Amino acid sequence: MSDTAPRPAFPARVRLGPGTKPANTTVGRTAPAADGQAGGRSRQQAPVFRDRQRLPARAQMVEQLARNGIRDPRVLQAMASVDRHLFVDSALGSRAYEDTALPIGLGQTISKPSVVARMTELLLQGGVTGGDGRLGRVLDIGTGCGYQALVLAQLATEVYSLERLRALHEKARANLRQLRVPNIHLILGDGMAGFGSGAPYAGILAAAGGQQVPRAWVEQLAVGGRIVAPVAAAASRQALTLIDKTADGVRQTVLEDVCFVPLKSGVG
Ligand code: SAH
Repeated sequence: MSDTAPRPAFPARVRLGPGTKPANTTVGRTAPAADGQAGGRSRQQAPVFRDRQRLPARAQMVEQLARNGIRDPRVLQAMASVDRHLFVDSALGSRAYEDTALPIGLGQTISKPSVVARMTELLLQGGVTGGDGRLGRVLDIGTGCGYQALVLAQLATEVYSLERLRALHEKARANLRQLRVPNIHLILGDGMAGFGSGAPYAGILAAAGGQQVPRAWVEQLAVGGRIVAPVAAAASRQALTLIDKTADGVRQTVLEDVCFVPLKSGVG
């Protein structure tokens, strides 16, 4: 692994699009809550949309997420706060708010908004949150273009995001630099080994699927934390899988089938 030291913080906040209330983006440099108590969820209202004709594409995307089962208003707010079009090639910009994966180069894709929202909600429900409902330090495996990391940054004190492909690591750095997000740390490295310097993590989310969840991730997860990751199921299938770590051990829950790029070892 190279270049593994956390980068200096960006100085300012995420830029919000028109018509969106600020998410709780004041992340400060507070003590990580990885070993904090769950609870104290804030009671925000989910966005309400009346005139679909006049909705910008991103608001329509959020409305569709809510219709399709994303319930947590904090997740809807985070999805409403992040400009997905900044993470895809300009030629694909008009499709940025469709519920579809799009190419980001090197055979990799930006995940579908519905999958990003689903995994984020699962992480928030099962990870270690502080009294403000915010996750503590989170590990994001497979930075890609950086979109998922930015969504997580709305909801966690710190996000450590690992990418094994240098070109994508640099792309994410360029994408995020313009947004000046103080609580994302981009790391070039093999995510299979996790990132010990940030451990223990309140939650770990992976956007690439292997045969099983690497042992390092379980070791680096805080007690009370959750891993959300695609894992090989039977034959050529992958299933979204949760690992919840308690004082008594780990519990694995297999959810719906998903389709992610493979988790590969090494840095390239
Ligand atoms: N999180 C991205 C998804 C990117 S696709 C988003 O917001 O859309 C998944 C990424 O995982 C790819 O960029 C791929 O290179 C990366 N990846 C695969 N195996 C990895 C590993 N062992 N460590 C780090 N990144 C890995």
